[in-house]
Amino acid sequence: MALYLYNTYSKKKEEFKPFETGKVRVYSCGPTVYSHPHIGNFRSFIAADILCRYLRYKGYEVTQIMNITDVGHLTTDDNLAPDEEGVDKIQLAAQSEKKTPKEITEFYANKFFELSKILNLYPASHYPKATEHIPEMVVITKRLLERGYAYETNGNIYYDISKFPDYGKLSGNTLENLKAGVRVGIKSEKKSPMDFALWKQDPKHLMQWDSPWGRGFPGWHLECSAMALKYLGEKIDIHTGGEDNIFPHHECEIAQSEAFTGSKVIKYWVHARHLLVDNQKMSKSLGNFYTVDDILKQGYHPMVLRYALMSSHYGQQLNFNMDLLKASKGALERLINFRRMLEDPIRVNGHPATAGRPTSNGVESLITNTKRRFEEAMDDDLNISAALGAIFDFTTEVNKTDISPGDAVLIKSALEDFDKVLGVLGVMQKKDSDEEIEKLVIERTLARKESNFKRSDEIRKYLEDKGIVLEDTPRGTKWHRGL
Ligand code: ZN
Repeated sequence: MALYLYNTYSKKKEEFKPFETGKVRVYSCGPTVYSHPHIGNFRSFIAADILCRYLRYKGYEVTQIMNITDVGHLTTDDNLAPDEEGVDKIQLAAQSEKKTPKEITEFYANKFFELSKILNLYPASHYPKATEHIPEMVVITKRLLERGYAYETNGNIYYDISKFPDYGKLSGNTLENLKAGVRVGIKSEKKSPMDFALWKQDPKHLMQWDSPWGRGFPGWHLECSAMALKYLGEKIDIHTGGEDNIFPHHECEIAQSEAFTGSKVIKYWVHARHLLVDNQKMSKSLGNFYTVDDILKQGYHPMVLRYALMSSHYGQQLNFNMDLLKASKGALERLINFRRMLEDPIRVNGHPATAGRPTSNGVESLITNTKRRFEEAMDDDLNISAALGAIFDFTTEVNKTDISPGDAVLIKSALEDFDKVLGVLGVMQKKDSDEEIEKLVIERTLARKESNFKRSDEIRKYLEDKGIVLEDTPRGTKWHRGL
Protein backbone atom coordinates (compact mmCIF):
# COMPACT_ATOMS: atom_id res chain seq x y z
CA MET A 1 0.00 0.00 0.00
CA ALA A 2 1.21 3.43 -0.85
CA LEU A 3 1.70 6.14 1.70
CA TYR A 4 0.01 9.49 1.06
CA LEU A 5 1.28 12.67 2.68
CA TYR A 6 -0.18 16.17 2.70
CA ASN A 7 2.39 18.35 0.97
CA THR A 8 2.26 21.97 2.16
CA TYR A 9 3.87 23.01 -1.13
CA SER A 10 1.19 21.56 -3.44
CA LYS A 11 -1.53 21.89 -0.78
CA LYS A 12 -2.78 18.37 -1.43
CA LYS A 13 -2.25 14.78 -0.41
CA GLU A 14 0.32 13.16 -2.67
CA GLU A 15 1.52 9.60 -3.04
CA PHE A 16 4.94 9.30 -1.43
CA LYS A 17 7.64 8.26 -3.90
CA PRO A 18 11.22 8.68 -2.73
CA PHE A 19 13.97 9.79 -5.10
CA GLU A 20 15.83 6.54 -4.49
CA THR A 21 14.00 3.22 -4.14
CA GLY A 22 13.88 1.98 -0.56
CA LYS A 23 15.63 5.03 0.91
CA VAL A 24 14.21 8.20 2.43
CA ARG A 25 16.09 11.38 3.27
CA VAL A 26 14.37 13.56 5.85
CA TYR A 27 15.43 16.99 7.08
CA SER A 28 13.69 18.17 10.26
CA CYS A 29 13.91 21.69 11.64
CA GLY A 30 15.16 21.24 15.17
CA PRO A 31 15.17 23.42 18.26
CA THR A 32 16.56 26.90 18.76
CA VAL A 33 18.49 26.22 21.94
CA TYR A 34 17.86 29.30 24.08
CA SER A 35 15.22 28.12 26.58
CA HIS A 36 13.45 25.06 27.97
CA PRO A 37 11.61 23.24 25.18
CA HIS A 38 7.83 23.59 25.46
CA ILE A 39 5.20 21.00 24.68
CA GLY A 40 4.43 22.66 21.32
CA ASN A 41 8.05 22.18 20.21
CA PHE A 42 7.85 18.50 21.08
CA ARG A 43 4.51 18.07 19.36
CA SER A 44 6.27 18.94 16.12
CA PHE A 45 9.36 16.78 16.88
CA ILE A 46 7.15 13.81 17.80
CA ALA A 47 5.16 14.26 14.57
CA ALA A 48 8.44 13.97 12.62
CA ASP A 49 9.39 10.97 14.80
CA ILE A 50 6.13 9.15 14.02
CA LEU A 51 6.63 9.85 10.30
CA CYS A 52 10.18 8.43 10.32
CA ARG A 53 9.15 5.46 12.46
CA TYR A 54 6.30 4.65 10.07
CA LEU A 55 8.63 4.91 7.06
CA ARG A 56 10.92 2.39 8.80
CA TYR A 57 7.90 0.17 9.60
CA LYS A 58 7.18 0.19 5.85
CA GLY A 59 10.71 -1.04 5.21
CA TYR A 60 12.43 2.17 4.12
CA GLU A 61 15.94 2.98 5.18
CA VAL A 62 15.56 6.45 6.72
CA THR A 63 18.25 9.08 7.14
CA GLN A 64 16.96 11.89 9.33
CA ILE A 65 18.95 15.06 9.95
CA MET A 66 17.80 17.47 12.64
CA ASN A 67 19.57 20.78 13.04
CA ILE A 68 20.34 22.62 16.25
CA THR A 69 19.93 26.39 15.86
CA ASP A 70 22.57 28.06 17.99
CA VAL A 71 22.91 31.41 16.23
CA GLY A 72 20.97 33.82 14.04
CA HIS A 73 17.35 33.21 15.09
CA LEU A 74 16.13 36.75 15.80
CA THR A 75 13.16 37.80 17.86
CA THR A 76 11.50 39.26 14.74
CA ASP A 77 12.09 36.31 12.41
CA ASP A 78 8.77 34.78 13.34
CA ASN A 79 6.81 37.81 12.21
CA LEU A 80 5.11 38.07 8.86
CA ALA A 81 7.13 41.13 7.95
CA PRO A 82 10.64 40.66 9.28
CA ASP A 83 12.56 43.86 9.80
CA GLU A 84 16.15 44.25 10.91
CA GLU A 85 15.48 45.30 14.47
CA GLY A 86 15.39 41.87 16.06
CA VAL A 87 17.82 40.56 18.64
CA ASP A 88 19.34 37.09 18.52
CA LYS A 89 17.30 34.90 20.89
CA ILE A 90 20.48 33.24 22.15
CA GLN A 91 22.13 36.58 22.83
CA LEU A 92 19.06 37.72 24.80
CA ALA A 93 19.12 34.54 26.88
CA ALA A 94 22.89 34.89 27.47
CA GLN A 95 22.42 38.45 28.70
CA SER A 96 19.49 37.68 30.96
CA GLU A 97 21.09 34.53 32.43
CA LYS A 98 24.51 36.21 32.63
CA LYS A 99 26.19 33.44 30.67
CA THR A 100 28.09 33.18 27.40
CA PRO A 101 26.14 32.21 24.25
CA LYS A 102 28.03 28.90 24.22
CA GLU A 103 27.02 28.13 27.81
CA ILE A 104 23.40 28.86 26.88
CA THR A 105 23.37 26.76 23.72
CA GLU A 106 25.19 23.82 25.31
CA PHE A 107 22.88 23.78 28.29
CA TYR A 108 19.65 23.92 26.26
CA ALA A 109 20.91 21.55 23.56
CA ASN A 110 21.66 19.01 26.30
CA LYS A 111 18.21 19.63 27.75
CA PHE A 112 16.70 18.96 24.32
CA PHE A 113 18.65 15.69 23.94
CA GLU A 114 17.69 14.58 27.44
CA LEU A 115 13.98 15.20 26.77
CA SER A 116 14.17 13.55 23.34
CA LYS A 117 15.48 10.45 25.07
CA ILE A 118 12.92 10.57 27.89
CA LEU A 119 10.10 11.00 25.35
CA ASN A 120 11.53 8.11 23.30
CA LEU A 121 12.23 9.93 20.05
CA TYR A 122 14.15 7.70 17.66
CA PRO A 123 17.55 9.40 17.41
CA ALA A 124 18.23 11.30 14.19
CA SER A 125 21.26 10.20 12.17
CA HIS A 126 22.97 13.49 12.97
CA TYR A 127 22.24 16.77 14.80
CA PRO A 128 24.40 19.40 13.08
CA LYS A 129 24.83 22.81 14.71
CA ALA A 130 24.56 26.10 12.83
CA THR A 131 27.73 27.55 14.40
CA GLU A 132 29.73 24.60 13.05
CA HIS A 133 28.63 25.30 9.45
CA ILE A 134 29.60 28.93 8.90
CA PRO A 135 31.99 28.13 5.96
CA GLU A 136 29.18 26.23 4.16
CA MET A 137 26.87 29.24 4.64
CA VAL A 138 29.53 31.57 3.26
CA VAL A 139 29.86 29.36 0.13
CA ILE A 140 26.10 29.56 -0.52
CA THR A 141 26.04 33.32 0.02
CA LYS A 142 28.96 33.78 -2.41
CA ARG A 143 27.23 31.82 -5.14
CA LEU A 144 23.92 33.67 -4.60
CA LEU A 145 25.83 36.96 -5.03
CA GLU A 146 27.55 35.65 -8.18
CA ARG A 147 24.25 34.55 -9.66
CA GLY A 148 22.56 37.87 -8.92
CA TYR A 149 20.11 36.52 -6.30
CA ALA A 150 21.72 38.58 -3.54
CA TYR A 151 23.24 42.01 -3.08
CA GLU A 152 25.52 43.72 -0.60
CA THR A 153 24.75 46.93 1.29
CA ASN A 154 27.10 48.22 3.98
CA GLY A 155 28.61 44.79 4.58
CA ASN A 156 25.18 43.15 4.91
CA ILE A 157 24.07 40.63 2.30
CA TYR A 158 20.40 40.39 1.39
CA TYR A 159 18.46 37.98 -0.76
CA ASP A 160 16.67 39.85 -3.54
CA ILE A 161 13.27 38.17 -3.59
CA SER A 162 12.28 39.91 -6.84
CA LYS A 163 14.76 37.51 -8.52
CA PHE A 164 12.90 34.43 -7.29
CA PRO A 165 9.37 34.36 -8.77
CA ASP A 166 8.32 31.32 -6.70
CA TYR A 167 8.78 33.22 -3.43
CA GLY A 168 5.52 32.90 -1.49
CA LYS A 169 4.49 29.60 -3.11
CA LEU A 170 4.92 27.46 0.02
CA SER A 171 3.11 29.77 2.41
CA GLY A 172 0.55 31.02 -0.12
CA ASN A 173 1.68 34.59 0.52
CA THR A 174 1.57 36.95 -2.45
CA LEU A 175 4.13 39.73 -2.67
CA GLU A 176 1.29 42.25 -2.44
CA ASN A 177 0.11 40.69 0.84
CA LEU A 178 3.61 40.66 2.23
CA LYS A 179 4.26 44.27 1.33
CA ALA A 180 0.97 45.30 2.93
CA GLY A 181 2.19 43.74 6.18
CA VAL A 182 5.36 45.79 6.32
CA ARG A 183 5.34 48.66 8.78
CA VAL A 184 5.58 51.96 6.98
CA GLY A 185 8.22 54.54 7.75
CA ILE A 186 11.03 52.11 8.62
CA LYS A 187 14.30 53.26 7.15
CA SER A 188 15.80 50.40 5.25
CA GLU A 189 18.94 49.75 3.30
CA LYS A 190 17.17 46.91 1.50
CA LYS A 191 15.83 47.15 -2.07
CA SER A 192 12.53 45.71 -0.90
CA PRO A 193 11.34 45.50 2.70
CA MET A 194 10.69 41.80 2.14
CA ASP A 195 14.29 40.96 1.18
CA PHE A 196 15.87 38.92 3.91
CA ALA A 197 19.39 38.82 5.31
CA LEU A 198 21.92 36.12 4.46
CA TRP A 199 24.78 37.73 6.34
CA LYS A 200 24.70 40.60 8.83
CA GLN A 201 27.09 42.87 10.57
CA ASP A 202 26.31 43.96 14.08
CA PRO A 203 29.15 45.08 16.34
CA LYS A 204 26.98 44.32 19.39
CA HIS A 205 26.40 40.70 18.40
CA LEU A 206 28.21 38.32 20.77
CA MET A 207 28.86 35.69 18.07
CA GLN A 208 30.81 36.81 15.01
CA TRP A 209 32.84 35.18 12.25
CA ASP A 210 35.13 36.39 9.46
CA SER A 211 33.68 36.46 5.96
CA PRO A 212 34.56 38.02 2.59
CA TRP A 213 32.22 40.86 3.65
CA GLY A 214 33.73 41.49 7.06
CA ARG A 215 32.96 40.08 10.49
CA GLY A 216 29.34 39.18 11.04
CA PHE A 217 26.85 36.36 11.56
CA PRO A 218 24.51 34.40 9.29
CA GLY A 219 20.77 34.90 8.82
CA TRP A 220 18.72 32.17 10.45
CA HIS A 221 17.24 30.65 7.27
CA LEU A 222 20.64 30.08 5.68
CA GLU A 223 21.70 27.41 8.16
CA CYS A 224 18.96 24.99 7.09
CA SER A 225 19.85 25.30 3.38
CA ALA A 226 23.52 24.73 4.24
CA MET A 227 23.03 21.73 6.52
CA ALA A 228 20.30 20.05 4.46
CA LEU A 229 22.43 20.24 1.29
CA LYS A 230 25.58 19.13 3.10
CA TYR A 231 24.13 16.05 4.84
CA LEU A 232 21.37 14.99 2.47
CA GLY A 233 22.42 16.28 -0.96
CA GLU A 234 20.44 18.17 -3.57
CA LYS A 235 17.52 15.74 -3.73
CA ILE A 236 15.74 15.53 -0.39
CA ASP A 237 12.52 13.59 0.02
CA ILE A 238 10.87 15.18 3.04
CA HIS A 239 11.34 18.37 5.05
CA THR A 240 9.46 18.63 8.35
CA GLY A 241 8.79 21.45 10.80
CA GLY A 242 6.09 23.20 12.75
CA GLU A 243 3.57 25.35 10.90
CA ASP A 244 5.24 28.45 12.35
CA ASN A 245 8.30 27.53 10.25
CA ILE A 246 6.40 27.80 6.94
CA PHE A 247 6.88 31.55 6.74
CA PRO A 248 9.36 33.09 6.62
CA HIS A 249 11.80 30.29 7.51
CA HIS A 250 10.96 27.61 4.95
CA GLU A 251 9.93 30.06 2.26
CA CYS A 252 13.40 31.60 2.50
CA GLU A 253 15.09 28.19 2.61
CA ILE A 254 13.45 27.25 -0.71
CA ALA A 255 14.55 30.55 -2.30
CA GLN A 256 18.15 30.01 -1.14
CA SER A 257 18.50 26.29 -1.93
CA GLU A 258 16.83 26.42 -5.34
CA ALA A 259 18.79 29.49 -6.44
CA PHE A 260 21.99 27.80 -5.22
CA THR A 261 21.42 24.41 -6.90
CA GLY A 262 19.36 25.60 -9.85
CA SER A 263 16.66 23.01 -9.20
CA LYS A 264 14.01 21.88 -6.77
CA VAL A 265 15.55 20.33 -3.64
CA ILE A 266 12.67 19.27 -1.36
CA LYS A 267 9.93 16.98 -2.68
CA TYR A 268 7.45 16.90 0.24
CA TRP A 269 6.96 19.59 2.91
CA VAL A 270 5.27 18.19 6.02
CA HIS A 271 4.23 20.59 8.79
CA ALA A 272 2.71 19.88 12.19
CA ARG A 273 0.02 22.34 13.19
CA HIS A 274 0.05 24.38 16.38
CA LEU A 275 -0.74 23.12 19.80
CA LEU A 276 -3.38 25.07 21.74
CA VAL A 277 -3.92 24.93 25.48
CA ASP A 278 -7.60 25.01 26.45
CA ASN A 279 -8.33 26.27 22.93
CA GLN A 280 -6.02 29.25 23.27
CA LYS A 281 -2.61 29.97 21.89
CA MET A 282 -0.01 28.97 24.47
CA SER A 283 1.62 32.10 25.90
CA LYS A 284 3.41 33.10 29.04
CA SER A 285 1.13 36.10 29.53
CA LEU A 286 -1.99 33.89 29.54
CA GLY A 287 -0.44 31.61 32.14
CA ASN A 288 -1.07 28.55 29.94
CA PHE A 289 2.53 28.03 28.86
CA TYR A 290 3.96 24.59 29.60
CA THR A 291 7.49 23.39 29.16
CA VAL A 292 7.97 19.63 28.92
CA ASP A 293 9.50 19.75 32.40
CA ASP A 294 6.37 21.48 33.78
CA ILE A 295 4.25 18.48 32.78
CA LEU A 296 6.74 15.85 33.93
CA LYS A 297 7.10 17.60 37.31
CA GLN A 298 3.37 17.16 37.81
CA GLY A 299 4.09 13.45 38.05
CA TYR A 300 2.96 12.36 34.58
CA HIS A 301 4.95 9.52 33.11
CA PRO A 302 6.82 10.72 29.98
CA MET A 303 4.95 8.13 27.91
CA VAL A 304 1.64 9.72 28.94
CA LEU A 305 2.90 13.03 27.56
CA ARG A 306 4.22 11.36 24.40
CA TYR A 307 0.87 9.67 23.88
CA ALA A 308 -1.00 12.95 24.43
CA LEU A 309 1.18 14.80 21.92
CA MET A 310 0.99 12.14 19.21
CA SER A 311 -2.54 10.79 19.50
CA SER A 312 -4.25 13.24 17.18
CA HIS A 313 -3.47 13.99 13.56
CA TYR A 314 -0.36 16.12 13.08
CA GLY A 315 -2.16 18.24 10.49
CA GLN A 316 -4.83 19.35 12.95
CA GLN A 317 -4.49 21.70 15.87
CA LEU A 318 -4.02 19.76 19.07
CA ASN A 319 -5.99 21.08 22.02
CA PHE A 320 -3.89 20.25 25.05
CA ASN A 321 -5.30 20.25 28.58
CA MET A 322 -5.37 18.14 31.72
CA ASP A 323 -8.33 16.11 30.40
CA LEU A 324 -6.22 15.08 27.44
CA LEU A 325 -3.45 13.95 29.79
CA LYS A 326 -5.92 11.96 31.89
CA ALA A 327 -7.46 10.34 28.81
CA SER A 328 -3.98 9.52 27.49
CA LYS A 329 -3.05 7.96 30.80
CA GLY A 330 -6.20 5.84 30.68
CA ALA A 331 -5.53 4.74 27.10
CA LEU A 332 -1.93 3.82 27.87
CA GLU A 333 -3.00 1.88 30.95
CA ARG A 334 -5.42 -0.12 28.83
CA LEU A 335 -2.61 -1.06 26.46
CA ILE A 336 -0.27 -1.96 29.29
CA ASN A 337 -2.89 -4.06 31.07
CA PHE A 338 -3.63 -5.77 27.79
CA ARG A 339 0.00 -6.69 27.30
CA ARG A 340 0.25 -7.86 30.92
CA MET A 341 -2.77 -10.10 30.40
CA LEU A 342 -0.87 -11.86 27.61
CA GLU A 343 1.77 -12.90 30.17
CA ASP A 344 -0.83 -14.26 32.60
CA PRO A 345 -0.67 -18.07 32.54
CA ILE A 346 -4.20 -18.46 33.93
CA ARG A 347 -5.71 -16.26 31.25
CA VAL A 348 -3.69 -17.81 28.46
CA ASN A 349 -3.67 -21.49 29.52
CA GLY A 350 -6.75 -21.72 31.60
CA HIS A 351 -9.38 -22.44 29.01
CA PRO A 352 -9.86 -26.12 28.19
CA ALA A 353 -10.98 -25.02 24.74
CA THR A 354 -7.58 -23.60 23.88
CA ALA A 355 -5.15 -25.43 26.18
CA GLY A 356 -2.47 -27.14 24.16
CA ARG A 357 -3.67 -25.62 20.89
CA PRO A 358 -0.88 -23.75 19.13
CA THR A 359 -2.94 -20.96 17.57
CA SER A 360 -6.53 -20.38 16.63
CA ASN A 361 -7.72 -19.14 13.26
CA GLY A 362 -9.85 -16.49 14.91
CA VAL A 363 -6.87 -14.74 16.42
CA GLU A 364 -4.77 -14.97 13.29
CA SER A 365 -7.40 -13.31 11.13
CA LEU A 366 -8.06 -10.72 13.84
CA ILE A 367 -4.38 -9.78 13.71
CA THR A 368 -4.37 -9.64 9.91
CA ASN A 369 -7.44 -7.38 9.89
CA THR A 370 -6.01 -5.11 12.58
CA LYS A 371 -2.70 -4.73 10.73
CA ARG A 372 -4.59 -3.89 7.54
CA ARG A 373 -6.67 -1.24 9.36
CA PHE A 374 -3.60 0.17 11.12
CA GLU A 375 -1.64 0.45 7.87
CA GLU A 376 -4.56 1.87 5.88
CA ALA A 377 -4.96 4.59 8.52
CA MET A 378 -1.25 5.42 8.67
CA ASP A 379 -0.96 5.36 4.85
CA ASP A 380 -3.67 8.01 4.77
CA ASP A 381 -1.40 10.92 5.74
CA LEU A 382 -0.52 9.29 9.11
CA ASN A 383 -4.05 9.17 10.48
CA ILE A 384 -2.92 8.08 13.92
CA SER A 385 -6.27 8.35 15.70
CA ALA A 386 -7.77 5.83 13.27
CA ALA A 387 -4.66 3.65 13.68
CA LEU A 388 -5.03 3.73 17.47
CA GLY A 389 -8.75 3.00 17.06
CA ALA A 390 -7.84 -0.20 15.20
CA ILE A 391 -5.52 -1.26 18.04
CA PHE A 392 -8.13 -0.61 20.74
CA ASP A 393 -10.81 -2.52 18.79
CA PHE A 394 -8.28 -5.35 18.59
CA THR A 395 -7.76 -5.40 22.38
CA THR A 396 -11.54 -5.45 22.92
CA GLU A 397 -11.95 -8.43 20.56
CA VAL A 398 -9.04 -10.36 22.08
CA ASN A 399 -10.40 -9.75 25.59
CA LYS A 400 -13.62 -11.51 24.52
CA THR A 401 -11.74 -14.48 23.04
CA ASP A 402 -10.19 -17.59 24.56
CA ILE A 403 -6.52 -17.49 23.71
CA SER A 404 -3.90 -20.19 23.66
CA PRO A 405 -0.19 -19.67 24.47
CA GLY A 406 0.47 -19.70 20.71
CA ASP A 407 -2.12 -16.96 20.20
CA ALA A 408 -0.52 -14.90 22.97
CA VAL A 409 2.84 -15.06 21.17
CA LEU A 410 1.29 -13.85 17.92
CA ILE A 411 -0.62 -11.04 19.65
CA LYS A 412 2.48 -9.88 21.52
CA SER A 413 4.46 -9.78 18.31
CA ALA A 414 1.69 -7.74 16.58
CA LEU A 415 1.71 -5.28 19.50
CA GLU A 416 5.49 -4.97 19.21
CA ASP A 417 5.12 -4.15 15.50
CA PHE A 418 2.58 -1.41 16.22
CA ASP A 419 4.81 -0.08 18.96
CA LYS A 420 7.68 0.33 16.49
CA VAL A 421 5.57 3.23 15.21
CA LEU A 422 3.96 4.43 18.46
CA GLY A 423 7.06 4.07 20.63
CA VAL A 424 5.22 3.97 23.95
CA LEU A 425 5.05 0.36 25.18
CA GLY A 426 8.70 -0.69 24.86
CA VAL A 427 9.79 1.92 27.38
CA MET A 428 7.27 0.71 29.95
CA GLN A 429 8.34 -2.88 29.42
CA LYS A 430 11.98 -2.11 30.18
CA LYS A 431 11.06 -0.50 33.48
CA ASP A 432 8.76 -3.40 34.44
CA SER A 433 11.70 -5.78 34.55
CA ASP A 434 13.58 -3.68 37.06
CA GLU A 435 15.60 -6.12 39.14
CA GLU A 436 15.66 -4.04 42.27
CA ILE A 437 11.87 -4.00 42.46
CA GLU A 438 11.72 -7.73 41.88
CA LYS A 439 14.07 -8.27 44.83
CA LEU A 440 11.97 -6.10 47.15
CA VAL A 441 8.77 -7.89 46.13
CA ILE A 442 10.37 -11.22 47.05
CA GLU A 443 11.66 -9.78 50.34
CA ARG A 444 8.14 -8.56 51.13
CA THR A 445 6.66 -11.98 50.40
CA LEU A 446 9.18 -13.59 52.79
CA ALA A 447 8.48 -10.95 55.45
CA ARG A 448 4.76 -11.68 55.20
CA LYS A 449 5.37 -15.43 55.53
CA GLU A 450 7.30 -14.70 58.74
CA SER A 451 4.48 -12.39 59.90
CA ASN A 452 6.95 -9.48 59.88
CA PHE A 453 4.22 -7.04 58.87
CA LYS A 454 6.23 -4.01 59.88
CA ARG A 455 8.83 -4.82 57.22
CA SER A 456 6.29 -5.88 54.59
CA ASP A 457 4.36 -2.62 55.09
CA GLU A 458 7.58 -0.64 54.85
CA ILE A 459 8.39 -2.24 51.51
CA ARG A 460 4.87 -1.71 50.20
CA LYS A 461 5.02 1.95 51.18
CA TYR A 462 8.49 2.38 49.63
CA LEU A 463 7.37 0.81 46.34
CA GLU A 464 4.13 2.79 46.31
CA ASP A 465 6.12 6.00 46.57
CA LYS A 466 8.05 4.88 43.50
CA GLY A 467 4.76 4.39 41.67
CA ILE A 468 4.87 0.57 41.87
CA VAL A 469 1.47 -1.07 42.22
CA LEU A 470 1.42 -4.42 44.09
CA GLU A 471 -1.29 -6.98 43.60
CA ASP A 472 -1.50 -9.97 45.95
CA THR A 473 -3.02 -12.98 44.20
CA PRO A 474 -3.37 -16.64 45.21
CA ARG A 475 -0.44 -17.34 42.89
CA GLY A 476 1.84 -14.78 44.52
CA THR A 477 2.40 -11.06 44.37
CA LYS A 478 2.35 -9.33 41.02
CA TRP A 479 3.54 -5.81 40.46
CA HIS A 480 3.54 -3.18 37.79
CA ARG A 481 4.57 0.39 37.42
CA GLY A 482 1.61 2.75 37.63
CA LEU A 483 1.50 5.76 35.34
ZN1 ZN B 1 15.09 25.18 9.78
